Amino acid sequence: MPAMLELTLRCSVCGTESADPTQKTCAACGPWGILEVHRPLAKPTEGPGVGIRRFLPLLPVPEHLALPAPPVGDTPLVEAPRLAFQLGLDRLRLKDDGRNPSGSLKDRASWVGAVLANGRTAACASTGNAASSLAAMCAALGTQAVIFVPERAPAPKVAQLQVFGATVFRVRGSYDQAYDLCAQAIERFGWYDRNASVNPMLVEGKKTCGLELGEAEAADWVAVSVGDGCTIAGIWKGLQEMYRLGVLERLPRLLGVQSERSPAVFNEWQSGGDQGPARAPNAAVADTLADSISVGVPRNWRRAVTAVRESGGEMVLVSDDEIDAAMRDCARLGGVYGEPAGVTAVAGLRKAWPGGSAIAVVTGSGLKDVVGAQRAGGEPIDVPPELGAVEAHFAG
Ligand SMILES: *Cc1c(COP(=O)(O)O)cnc(C)c1O
Ligand SMILES: [Zn+2]
Repeated sequence: MPAMLELTLRCSVCGTESADPTQKTCAACGPWGILEVHRPLAKPTEGPGVGIRRFLPLLPVPEHLALPAPPVGDTPLVEAPRLAFQLGLDRLRLKDDGRNPSGSLKDRASWVGAVLANGRTAACASTGNAASSLAAMCAALGTQAVIFVPERAPAPKVAQLQVFGATVFRVRGSYDQAYDLCAQAIERFGWYDRNASVNPMLVEGKKTCGLELGEAEAADWVAVSVGDGCTIAGIWKGLQEMYRLGVLERLPRLLGVQSERSPAVFNEWQSGGDQGPARAPNAAVADTLADSISVGVPRNWRRAVTAVRESGGEMVLVSDDEIDAAMRDCARLGGVYGEPAGVTAVAGLRKAWPGGSAIAVVTGSGLKDVVGAQRAGGEPIDVPPELGAVEAHFAG
């Protein structure tokens, strides 16, 4: 066991507390009683520019484990005035989390996981980004990663974790089947569990995106794409901590955005499903082309719904075509190249049309999904190597 800090785990459903940092879910509520980390609040030690390590006082990571730190976090907040105009917003900023070392926001969680594994093998099931980020962080720390991916995972993401040297099992089945197989293997071999859905420490890593947003000028809305739900829950926790520390002057409303083809969290939000006892979400289809948010049985649905509700926010659904359009708009009008799930927050802003000021979290890089990029971007103009053909193109 790594040395542990002063922390309490509190059930997000019934509030029962536990001081055992290895506990996974609530003893009273069972597997759907997702636990949350509570630590005394403390200000970040250093200013921006040194990455995620500066948030150590707010993370469940003992200082002596936290080195070396790959350059995770401190991603740019890009002003996007032309995209703001198109979306009817006074101001829009894009949090470009595709600029993390492995190309997605997941690096924030994987860094915490790889560090807390403290030399042990770490494992996860992932549609791609959690996996490639774990592979990258384990490589940086010199430890081993074991990954279970569903068949559908895009080739660039699988290639990335092969290159980083992870052991990769490609499971003939859905994400949920890959997840169950991973859980069994973790139990069997005693690996460190980097499944953010059940490991409350990892949401603390995702929280650092919200901590960084909490250091910037406040916005009326923060828009986040939602698959399992722990990203938006983590970002909300980070924003709240910065507000309680007096760093952020007012909290934003959250806009949670899902694909019509993976609407499980949205459905629960709409029906007020977070009011009763701990339970699985009502299962929904999950076949969106935005693979990173294609989740049929989201483990953190309730925390996501609670975060949106606490913030006085909204959830919306967008189509895959609207996501493709957002990929173009985000690049052409905002200068940021995001993968489909990465730009889904932008598609949601277009749908919800909230007005005022907003921050859209672009959760992953466009380089992650070349097929999606080709679909959104279209084909180039084929010409022979003759000036006449170029002239003909511009003549009409
Ligand atoms: C994982 C992921 C999300 C969604 O995060 P959840 O915690 O599953 O809701 C969104 N975008 C990208 C690029 C991701 O990798
Ligand atoms: Zn409970």
